[in-house]
Amino acid sequence: MKTLYNFSAGPSVLPAEALKKAQESLSDYGGSGMSVMEMSHRSKEFDEIIKNTEALFRSVLAIPDNYSVLFLQGGATLQFAMVPMNLLARSGKADYVITGNFANNAYKEALLFGKDISVAWTGKSENFSRIPEQGELTLDPAADYVHICVNNTIFGTKWQYVPETGNVPIVADMSSCILSEPVDVSKYGLIYAGAQKNIAPAGLTLVIIRNDLLGDPLPGTPTMLNYRTMAENGSMKNTPPCWPIYISMLVLEWIRDMGGLEVMRNRNEEKARVLYDYLDKTDFYRTDVNPRDRSIMNVTFKTANEDLDAKFIAESKAQGMSNLKGHRSVGGMRASVYNAMPVEGVAYLVEFMKKFEKENGGRV
Ligand SMILES: *Cc1c(COP(=O)(O)O)cnc(C)c1O
Repeated sequence: MKTLYNFSAGPSVLPAEALKKAQESLSDYGGSGMSVMEMSHRSKEFDEIIKNTEALFRSVLAIPDNYSVLFLQGGATLQFAMVPMNLLARSGKADYVITGNFANNAYKEALLFGKDISVAWTGKSENFSRIPEQGELTLDPAADYVHICVNNTIFGTKWQYVPETGNVPIVADMSSCILSEPVDVSKYGLIYAGAQKNIAPAGLTLVIIRNDLLGDPLPGTPTMLNYRTMAENGSMKNTPPCWPIYISMLVLEWIRDMGGLEVMRNRNEEKARVLYDYLDKTDFYRTDVNPRDRSIMNVTFKTANEDLDAKFIAESKAQGMSNLKGHRSVGGMRASVYNAMPVEGVAYLVEFMKKFEKENGGRV
């Protein structure tokens, strides 16, 4: 059966409306006779696209004027290095809150650049099933920044509050929750996100950085890895990832036309509620995430054993639901329900879960 609903954690489902527009302009953008993939990034057409995309990010996310919006490459993973390279020159100290795999990878990468990189808290001994409370964080007021991963894609947890860090800027990996709900950008020094979860196809990395944090990189930082280079050149020091920038423009227009991030949040909370309400009622499936810290983007759950999990994944696929397998490091199942997943997709999944439970010995 072909895919009806794609629950992939990333690259992931995109709004059908945006894909349709992309298809219509695939070989002829706006009467130019060229695809966006074929035109010069210095052309009038592309200049309009990139400026419009930045303006849409600014309005949809309510980004204050003292922040730069950068379109980079290398994925969120390259930001694990770019962040310390650009922000660690003052004191050489940074605090990392380890709430999962990606947060840990960011921490390990920072160790390449500084001797004073500290773990402010780690959830490793609890299998990353929760987010720390403010009082559990060990923060150094002299640090150059505090790094957090807001939504933990693999484990299905999410920060429900912005930690208090005094004057120390917060650097936030928002790869899997950007654009899912309104964010107070002014609470962060830097926000980054790989595009392929909730923005666009892979190949684009969004960075939102407060302007006073630009321009003081570690000695030896390559020109192209210096945020200031990209800020001063409108992200066009070299050829930018034109196609994913264009698709992100279409996705942002879709979000704007749907009513913006308040509407996205309501939709996403509704979708997550349908899933968690069911998970709370059944004891056939279990979810290990601390209820308070549940992600509304990535919902993780398991049956009683691995064989049953494998059966679930195979049968769900046969029913038109793709990519429900959990990350290889944790097993079980994961339903990624990003912006473009319709409410009907989640209802369809829950109906299947009920049927599977009944057929496999659950007490429905
Ligand atoms: C997917 C993901 C990453 C890695 O992103 P790449 O763009 O593949 O480098 C990092 N952090 C989080 C939270 C993610 O979900």
